[in-house]
Amino acid sequence: MSLAPGRPLRARFPIFAAMSGQPFHYLDNGATGQIVDVAADALLGFETRSRANVKRGVYGLADAATVAFDKARASMAAFLGAGSSEEIVFTSGTTMALNIVAHGLAGELRPGDRIVSSVLEHHSNIVPWQLVAGPAGAVVRAIPATGEGRLDLDALAAMVDERTRIVSVTHVSNVTGAVSDIARIRALAPDAILVVDGAQRAPHGPLDVQAMGCDFYALSSHKMFGPTGAGVLWGRGERLDALPPFLGGGEMIRRVSFDGTSYARPPHRFEAGTPPIGPVLGMAAAARWLMQQDWSAWAAHEKRLGERLLNGLAAIDGVRVHGPQGLQERLGIVAFEVDGVHAHDVCQMLGDRGVCLRGGHHCAQPLMERFDVAATARASLAPYSDADDVDALLQGLPEVIGRLR
Ligand code: PLP
Repeated sequence: MSLAPGRPLRARFPIFAAMSGQPFHYLDNGATGQIVDVAADALLGFETRSRANVKRGVYGLADAATVAFDKARASMAAFLGAGSSEEIVFTSGTTMALNIVAHGLAGELRPGDRIVSSVLEHHSNIVPWQLVAGPAGAVVRAIPATGEGRLDLDALAAMVDERTRIVSVTHVSNVTGAVSDIARIRALAPDAILVVDGAQRAPHGPLDVQAMGCDFYALSSHKMFGPTGAGVLWGRGERLDALPPFLGGGEMIRRVSFDGTSYARPPHRFEAGTPPIGPVLGMAAAARWLMQQDWSAWAAHEKRLGERLLNGLAAIDGVRVHGPQGLQERLGIVAFEVDGVHAHDVCQMLGDRGVCLRGGHHCAQPLMERFDVAATARASLAPYSDADDVDALLQGLPEVIGRLR
């Protein structure tokens, strides 16, 4: 059954019972979401009652683990709107997924080739490209950000040329909450390999990667209410087929010999070693649960709370939001700066009152530079967030500012 967003939904998230009796306003969902009960049950159930390694056993317990693992792949394919389960590569998270793509494509890069990333990216969608561009003599360029923290797609239109081999952008900024127009980016760079970092988009409902027109899509389980330690790289069938492996080891091979080793077909080619089985089963349980929810009710709830937060912050003297002012094409991730006060101090003092925010550069230093700040505070909403969380922030912030100034 689909519970109403806000307080009723907390019944499904064990953290709220664990934290009851103390002030707890969890607004750090951009860093990690809380685990939903079905995901926790799947993780613990595997580890305590049905644990065996996957893909290699022939006895009952091992066979059941492999069947569950295959089912998890099918669930993630449904969640992403993939063409088939074979397009789902299990990873340890978004960072690993992006590294698999970057290192896999490295061999195709020639001197002077261009990789386009953006000023809005998390470091995990910048550094892997720099690692592979340098040795190949390729160049990483960045789509600039507009003043309100969106991708400047007019600038992208002027940047794309015949040397542009890869475009890799975030679906949703982890700082400004801005939602990227992936269809327009596809249209602007029709010949480039299009990679999308979906870490911040995944908790906001099922996806349709095929309709989006991208070639690769990355997400993390822990941000979509699953366990830590798992994630997905989706790749369009023909793209994955053409991609060489990044990590070598067991389970990713067809045949190993000192005369030459051949590799398994995707997705196994990219899954060297024992995968994070429990976390994968938990992630898939979270995805199945997410697919059953009333997404229009959840989106309306997030919009209401986001407006409350943005309007409240705008009314506090000396507070400046970095990001779009409205909720149009933007999710409930709100970064703000307080005049004359360091973000860490704001977050620490609000943390003492049970308001959980993140303060820092959010692994997005180029964007901090664009905004000319060293760090910001960030509040990020989830479907279990409620008006009392937002109000705890809005009421606490002026007091904290008063004490810190
Ligand atoms: N991309 C974005 C937009 C993120 O917000 C994050 C994490 O905050 C990542 C990538 C990295 O995700 P992970 O640490 O789960 O690999």
